[in-house]
Amino acid sequence: MEDMLERLPEFESSVRTYSRSFPVVFSKARGAEIYSIDGTRYIDFLAGAGTLNYGHNHPVLKEAVIEYFRGDNIVHSLDLWTKAKYAYLDTFDRLILKPRKLDYKVHLTGPTGTNAVEAAIRLARKVKNRSNIVSFTNGFHGVTMGSLAVTGNAKFRTAAGLPIMGGAFMPFDNYFGGGVDTLAYFRKFLSDRSSGLDHPAAVIVEVVQGEGGINVASTAWLQGLEKICRTHDMLMIIDDIQAGCGRTGKFFSFEHAGVVPDMVTNSKSLSGYGLPFSQVLIRREHDLWEPGQYNGTFRGHNPAMVTAARALEHFWADDTFAEETRQKEMIVRKGFLGLVETLRNYDIEAEERGLGLMRGIDVRSGDLASKITVEAFRNGLMIETSGHSGQVIKCLCPLVITHDQIEEAVQILSRSIARVLG
Ligand SMILES: *Cc1c(COP(=O)(O)O)cnc(C)c1O
Repeated sequence: MEDMLERLPEFESSVRTYSRSFPVVFSKARGAEIYSIDGTRYIDFLAGAGTLNYGHNHPVLKEAVIEYFRGDNIVHSLDLWTKAKYAYLDTFDRLILKPRKLDYKVHLTGPTGTNAVEAAIRLARKVKNRSNIVSFTNGFHGVTMGSLAVTGNAKFRTAAGLPIMGGAFMPFDNYFGGGVDTLAYFRKFLSDRSSGLDHPAAVIVEVVQGEGGINVASTAWLQGLEKICRTHDMLMIIDDIQAGCGRTGKFFSFEHAGVVPDMVTNSKSLSGYGLPFSQVLIRREHDLWEPGQYNGTFRGHNPAMVTAARALEHFWADDTFAEETRQKEMIVRKGFLGLVETLRNYDIEAEERGLGLMRGIDVRSGDLASKITVEAFRNGLMIETSGHSGQVIKCLCPLVITHDQIEEAVQILSRSIARVLG
């Protein structure tokens, strides 16, 4: 491994990130565990930043895609109709949309999350014939130009190299803390014709801000935001790229609040197997795209649609999986609350928060969070940080993780905190 560790940084651009936090060479993974080439085992609480909700190499999904390749089925097809595409769209409609009484058309975009966000905001602009898109403080929506304009993080924005246009920011729920009603602020800006806010075509929001530090929008806030969108003739786009596909204990994160967005973006865990795959869900009446007006070479990649459909059949045919996720949420939450107690004993005013298995511990300092996660990695737990200063230790464990693996991870965190602060 030593030789590889020396040569890899020479080969690869310094833009790399995760390999800095977890500087080993990985080779194998299964479920919630990942192994480096020297055989060291790590529990994976990073899980591809929410891409591996069903874990690494799930045997059922693996079988489906291997069989697909074996049979000389279509791998690449631009956006031609294929059997795999029909199976995916039919399954998504039958198991996800219909039972939730949602009526969306599916726009299969380029394969990454930011492709879906770009498509969604561009369509919103076309539908409303306005350019401004409102997003929220600490929101993260991707790093290509359109998505970047609605992303708050200065690290990404300052690397744009061009003026970033087309977005305006409003405070997310609880941005100021202390019961300040951030929607009142937004409402005032919309109703005052001299506020300086150009009438937006849409708002784009995450129900739980993943990169922004596990900030959860309350049900009341989301419902209020939906009402503002209706009152002021703006589309509501929910970016469910990280919080979707069961992460919060329901397939869509917005189901908890009972809101019905005009558009939804999905990616990350959508293929179920870690294959690149994205889509935008569009209300029928808003599907104003002209044929070919927005395209891309890799839209609806067939192997990804095969694993995506199989994952829906396997995990979403009934409520069992979601129920198990909610049970595991309790276990993680209990463990994390214990860690918060430990941190408080060291005079750290830590806070635990999240929804479902998208959880975090805010330790109030990026430096401390980083020290704890570095120590955790040394002890066999891969876990990242997020938030404006990296101050939140972030749990995105695979939803298929076992209770024992959760307990072990909490133990590792507990020992790491003691070692860093003790
Ligand atoms: C990861 C992410 C994106 C961007 O997806 P990429 O595949 O990295 O382009 C957009 N929105 C949210 C909420 C995300 O978590």
